Amino acid sequence: MPECELLKKCAFFNDQLANMPGHAELFKDLYCRRDNKICARYMIAEKLGRESIPKDLFPNHVEMAKEIITYLSSKQKSH
Ligand code: SF4
Repeated sequence: MPECELLKKCAFFNDQLANMPGHAELFKDLYCRRDNKICARYMIAEKLGRESIPKDLFPNHVEMAKEIITYLSSKQKSH
């Protein structure tokens, strides 16, 4: 699996989140370098665009990502 194409500009990958966890490097290996399809940030970028990713969303916050996608998708449809 190639590296995530958002890697260079991703706030998580570039340690720009306020509370980077101690296991951030593990997450980077798991999500950013191996399987971005399971990353919460990537899911939102893919469906709604990079600008819709909440600043402090972590790659493992998949449930939150799904809720955000459902919510913002329904908002977009209503316009
Ligand atoms: S955190 Fe997600 S969106 Fe960001 S570089 Fe890693 S896999 Fe890509």
